[in-house]
Amino acid sequence: MSTIQTGSKAEPPDAGAVKLSIIIPFLNEQEVLPHCHARLSSVLNVMGEQYEILYVDDGSSDDSVATLVNITRESTKTKIIRLSRNFGKEAAMSAGLAHASGDAVIVLDADLQDPPELIPDMVTAWKAGADIVAMRRRFRDGEGWFKRLSAYAFYRILNRLSRPAVPSDTGDFRLMSRRVVDTLLQLRERCRYMKGLYAWIGFPTTIIEYDRERRAAGKTKWNYLSLLGLAFEGITSFSTKPLRCATIIGAFAALLGGSFGFWIIFKTIFFGEDVPGYPSMIAAITLLSGIQLLTIGLLGEYVGKTYIEAKQRPVYVVRDVIESPLQSIVDPTAGNGGGIAYY
Ligand code: UDP
Ligand code: MG
Repeated sequence: MSTIQTGSKAEPPDAGAVKLSIIIPFLNEQEVLPHCHARLSSVLNVMGEQYEILYVDDGSSDDSVATLVNITRESTKTKIIRLSRNFGKEAAMSAGLAHASGDAVIVLDADLQDPPELIPDMVTAWKAGADIVAMRRRFRDGEGWFKRLSAYAFYRILNRLSRPAVPSDTGDFRLMSRRVVDTLLQLRERCRYMKGLYAWIGFPTTIIEYDRERRAAGKTKWNYLSLLGLAFEGITSFSTKPLRCATIIGAFAALLGGSFGFWIIFKTIFFGEDVPGYPSMIAAITLLSGIQLLTIGLLGEYVGKTYIEAKQRPVYVVRDVIESPLQSIVDPTAGNGGGIAYY
């Protein structure tokens, strides 16, 4: 495995001399984007640091982009990066990171569930030496008991299975120093489970707790099935322990089946008993074939991942970058290494 050179020491930046990049991936958020931009701009303007806001349109089919162009008409600090279609939030964030030029980069959801008012605290923690400032959700307003319970269970299972541990209840809302972003951009995998990638990178991390607010408007893009898919993706991207478990379960079942077989032969020879009937055999066959199918499926997940990685497609494709209203610029460096920009 190649090692990644990441420099030796974080240098505390001077006040006012740093540039912040704020990345906002969005998909069909036309109702909430005006509020988001207003709240974010007022926080950033008060802070007095240089900044840029990168909105990443993840293939919206509503009027989100037109709304954004309208509200950012006056701003020279805003860019809209349009992807060619919906690639998913993880890919949209990668596009934002590749285009960010700040000394520190902050990722925010468009729906205001991650309050922009916390940015000054994040920047203070970064200036105090943290490379990653991860925001931990203390309370999830507007989320049902089932979502909270499943999120709780997921983080615990993931942490048992994967090394390094993923800090629980932290999401994409975080600040990353330039060297963390550069390292993240060197990780070329297509299956981008960001929480796992953040944890893999390491570096000094500070955790700040906050209360997660309700969505300001619009609807969540996730349903339970897609969350389950993401959870499975997270586990299989960062751990091969499920494969080990399958081997152990297989060995255990074989041992059990073998012992049972010996027991039947023993009874028939020494006690002259008939082989017990059909139902027990069916039960054994069903159990074993169930385990076999499950483990083949699991194996397939890993083989499928290797297949996707082997194709080496870019993580996302940029359609264009709108730097100021009415001006669209083809970006030749887009595509996170893939170098593809379709216009
Ligand atoms: N999002 C995206 N691409 C997608 C799905 C979601 O860019 O395919 C954005 C979405 O617009 C929002 C953020 O990711 O800014 C978080 O999504 P959402 O609020 O739906 O997720 P939740 O907060 O319910 O987990
Ligand atoms: Mg949300």
